[in-house]
Amino acid sequence: MDSVVVATTPLARFQFCPACGSEAVESGTPPQLVCRACVFHLYFNPAVAAAALIVDEQERLLLLCRGREPRKGFWALPGGFIDIGERVEEGLRREIREEVGLEPTAFDFVASFPNSYPFKGVTYPVLDLFFETRVEGVTVVMDAEESSDHKWVGRKEINLEEIAFPSLRGAVAVWLGRSG
Ligand SMILES: [Zn+2]
Repeated sequence: MDSVVVATTPLARFQFCPACGSEAVESGTPPQLVCRACVFHLYFNPAVAAAALIVDEQERLLLLCRGREPRKGFWALPGGFIDIGERVEEGLRREIREEVGLEPTAFDFVASFPNSYPFKGVTYPVLDLFFETRVEGVTVVMDAEESSDHKWVGRKEINLEEIAFPSLRGAVAVWLGRSG
């Protein structure tokens, strides 16, 4: 027997119907848990996350050095998951406040990329939304739990290889393409 725990989708972890307890559950399309013993259907959708490309008056991008795994030591953008019932703008403003102590006023949509988030043996599908926000004369106050360092990087100095995750890399590439 292979003892390696392989991360799996949330849907694949259901062995019984959470409503009636029957084992007569199957997966449907679009991704959903369907119980053949009762009427229960449970749809699976991506979690929504948002991240900010914070740009200063010198056209420099704010990057944060990840202080924890995965991809510790690589560079990322401030952001996080959006709560149920929350506007993306509110959730992103909250994450930016917590992570870098800034209060952005406006967001411009840049790009979206599908992503995934492995957590305790389950890989959650995620949709990352990226927004540009502009700030002037600011002091970054970082959350030391999240990030070990920060830097403002000019457009020509950005190295996509040192960006932590493919979706972040994609968003920075789109931003470089449209603002270059
Ligand atoms: Zn059922």
